[in-house]
Amino acid sequence: MTSSIQDLFTHNRAWAAQMERERPGFFTGLIKQQTPKYMWIGCSDSRVPANQITGLEPGEVFVHRNVANVVVHSDLNALSAIQYAVEMLKVEDIMVVGHYGCGGVMAALHGARIGLADNWIRHIQDVRDRHRPVLDALAPEKRADALVELNVIEQVVNVCVSTVMVDAWAKGQKVRVHGWAFGVHDGLLQDLKMTVASTDAIEPLYRAAVASVVAARR
Ligand SMILES: [Zn+2]
Repeated sequence: MTSSIQDLFTHNRAWAAQMERERPGFFTGLIKQQTPKYMWIGCSDSRVPANQITGLEPGEVFVHRNVANVVVHSDLNALSAIQYAVEMLKVEDIMVVGHYGCGGVMAALHGARIGLADNWIRHIQDVRDRHRPVLDALAPEKRADALVELNVIEQVVNVCVSTVMVDAWAKGQKVRVHGWAFGVHDGLLQDLKMTVASTDAIEPLYRAAVASVVAARR
C-alpha cells in the first residue's frame, strides 16, 4: 500500500471518530435505513462532489455519476438507480447536474478522440448536433458553457421520459426533476429553470430553458 492510500484510511478513522464524537449514534442511526429526499445525477469529475457542494450528509442524497452526466434511454445502470430512488426510496427531487469546463462536453464540442469513451461522448455530440444552429450563432468562446447547459436540459428530458418517471407521475407521485450547472471556478450551482413535475410540463419547459441558454449569451 502506498503512503497516500494509507492516508485515506487515516483520514477515514479520524472522520468516523469525529462524527461519532460530535453526533453520538450517527452511524448506528444510518444502519436502519437510508431515507434520502434527493437523487443526484452528476458528472464523475472529481471536482463535483454531490454531498460537499450541497452540504448534505451520508444518508441524505442518492448519487449516480458518469462521464458528463448522461442519461441514455437504455442505460440499465442509470435507469436502475433512478427506479430504486423513485419507487423504493421515494425521493422528492432528482437533479441532473452538469458542470462548466466538463471534459466530456468539451470533447464532444470539438470532436476530440479520446478512445472508448468516444462512443459515450457521442450522446453529447447528438445534443450538439440537435442544437447546431443555436451553438453556431454564439461566439466560439461561449459555446462550451452553452453545450454544458443544453446537455443538462436534454438529460433532464431523458429522465422525464423514462418509464420510471412516466409511471410515477401517472400514479400521482410527487417527484420533480431539476437541471443545474455547477461552476468549478466559483463553487456555485446555477438553476437552469428546467424543473419538471409532470409529463405535460416537459415540452414547454424544455423550449423555454433552451431559449434562455441562448438569450443569456447574446
Ligand atoms: Zn464533467
